[in-house]
Amino acid sequence: MGTINDYRDREHWSFSAINQFLNICSLQFFFDRIARLPKAFTPVSLSFGSAFHRTCEWIGMMRKDGHQPKKADACELFHTLWGRQVAEDGEIRYDEEQDQESVSTQGRAMIGCLVDGMDPDEQVVSVNEAFAVPLVDAQGNVSDKPLVGEIDCRVSKGGKQALVDCKTSGRRWPKDQADKSLQPTVYLYAERQLYGQDIPVRFDVIVKNKTPVMEQHVTTRTVDQFHRMVELVKMSERMIQTGHFLPSEQSFYCAGCPHQVACRAWHREAARVTVGMAA
Ligand code: SF4
Repeated sequence: MGTINDYRDREHWSFSAINQFLNICSLQFFFDRIARLPKAFTPVSLSFGSAFHRTCEWIGMMRKDGHQPKKADACELFHTLWGRQVAEDGEIRYDEEQDQESVSTQGRAMIGCLVDGMDPDEQVVSVNEAFAVPLVDAQGNVSDKPLVGEIDCRVSKGGKQALVDCKTSGRRWPKDQADKSLQPTVYLYAERQLYGQDIPVRFDVIVKNKTPVMEQHVTTRTVDQFHRMVELVKMSERMIQTGHFLPSEQSFYCAGCPHQVACRAWHREAARVTVGMAA
């Protein structure tokens, strides 16, 4: 089995690319992945997410090796990784009333909450499991680009497996958020392609309350939902080929978007191209 970097060597689709194009903003997708504009800043959520994810990775590896990670060690590791992330990312844009230290304090509390919430009877089977599978529609047509991704963790309890993804969130998840998310569809599509089995995805969500809380949301998918996902990707490909990139003007994501300057100029650039073509 290859690593995620091996699979990323060739053109591919991933959950984050599909989600950015369809659910975040297709113009941001264009700026990031096609024009490859440099980012004006790194949103704190991205930097925080990287340090949090790396700490979860360590927790997962410890559990896989049969150890119960100590809360103090995990919190200390987050503090170290967060410091490294800040140095690596440079220009981080913090939310109001936040700074490096307050984010570290919050992150340590959230990691502590995750360690407290772990089930000692659950076995971690794998960590960071990479996949690359063909995208096949209901008629058997195969897309040029494969679907690539990495699953945080595969766990097993009482002979039953589940794929686990750790998330942080500023609020409690609505009841149907896991059922509506595209991420389990992508993971479970790959699971079916690779192993022919239908298992659940579980989101372990740490909510950023003053005292963080952990929620678990379990979801499954049907074959019909896989077919719908492949059709969404096919339609996205057609839209990309024909240059359908539009700002998502009232998006929740605009505040943290590192391409706000280019976005504000977008309609002037588009108008210039259109007038040029007409002449
Ligand atoms: S600022 Fe908002 S609309 Fe503009 S590219 Fe970014 S996310 Fe899209």
